[in-house]
Amino acid sequence: MKIKQCQLCDSKNITLVIDLGQHPLADTFLKDLEQKEEYYPLQVFLCKSCGYAGLSHIVSAPVRYQKTDYSYTSSNSPIATAHFKEMADQAVRLVKIAPKDLVIDIGSNVGTLLKSFEQIIHCRILGVEPSANIARLARKEHVPTLQNFFSKETVLKMVKKYGNAKVIVCTNVFNHVNNVRECMENIDRLLTKDGYFIFETPYLLDLVENISFDTIYLEHVSYFAIKPLQKFFKRFGFYIQYLEKNDYMGGSIRVYVSREKTDKKVVKDFINAENKANLFSTKTYESFMKEVNALRYNLYRQLFQIKASGKKVIAVGAATKGNTLLNYFKIDNSLIDFITDSSALKIGKFTPGSHIPIKSDKDINKDITFALVLSWNIVEFLKKKLGHLNLTFIVPQAKKYSNKD
Ligand SMILES: [Zn+2]
Repeated sequence: MKIKQCQLCDSKNITLVIDLGQHPLADTFLKDLEQKEEYYPLQVFLCKSCGYAGLSHIVSAPVRYQKTDYSYTSSNSPIATAHFKEMADQAVRLVKIAPKDLVIDIGSNVGTLLKSFEQIIHCRILGVEPSANIARLARKEHVPTLQNFFSKETVLKMVKKYGNAKVIVCTNVFNHVNNVRECMENIDRLLTKDGYFIFETPYLLDLVENISFDTIYLEHVSYFAIKPLQKFFKRFGFYIQYLEKNDYMGGSIRVYVSREKTDKKVVKDFINAENKANLFSTKTYESFMKEVNALRYNLYRQLFQIKASGKKVIAVGAATKGNTLLNYFKIDNSLIDFITDSSALKIGKFTPGSHIPIKSDKDINKDITFALVLSWNIVEFLKKKLGHLNLTFIVPQAKKYSNKD
């Protein structure tokens, strides 16, 4: 579906700022190479009225989450588990949650975050997860989970059966939502009067400053900044109560929103920083694309030289965002022998578009000397984990990390 107006403010004054060409869905790892792949334009527009940035072409949600097995599980990563525990600890500290209260997670995955809430405060928990295979894994772990989209119909049923929620959490999901306004209407319906909507999402300012173009993919519909969000929430009678930045997913914001009228200084500070960085100017994205392409040529040259000298290169960490890099840079199975990952849901499959086989870390043998790090946000963790293998790591990140190891 082609987008013709801003998701947040309805303005038609939108302009294309990032074009990464045609891509298959980044989260759909292939079981075999016979599988037919659909390609869609991966482009981001900027709303000149409110500053919202979002995809110009949206793939329907059933195609994204229900046609094939979704492969990301939050319990698979120790970093994610620790992060969610910290998030639940903080929410319990900042919001008065009682054991009788209901905490709902939208896009709850296998229920890692909800479990943390249950352990800390023994409150009632409920997950909403569209992927059948993931919802099944959550239920196996005793996390009550509705396998459905977060639609009006689902929400009305939930309110009838479970009552309103004191807290709705949403981590790296609000940015996946196809219709942001509809999602907010449903949050409004589902929350108690004094309820909180707490969400975490990659931050547009970090994306631009760190040239994290690989966090752009078809499953990420929105690229949020505080200035457009603050206005958007106000339309629904919601206000930002607390706000912080963290390093998760290469730079995220955690935002607490409720109906209590307020005008917090931290919100003004964030908006000032966004304006100062020219985040809402098209020029900023022109230089962003220049940096991305410089990175593309450098990495390509580096990989070609290694291959030309007869050495083998593998990649480590079959992260979703790695697929944006591989497909935009046109790096495929002729340059990378295989990718290693620890997720059982990925091993044995192939990367979308680039068709690189995914193997386990145990398959790394002495023949392999170079490893391209696709999960650059956990590069230190991976280096430690694979340190005994004497690999030279190539980290494709423009500004934050250097390419030399
Ligand atoms: Zn707008």
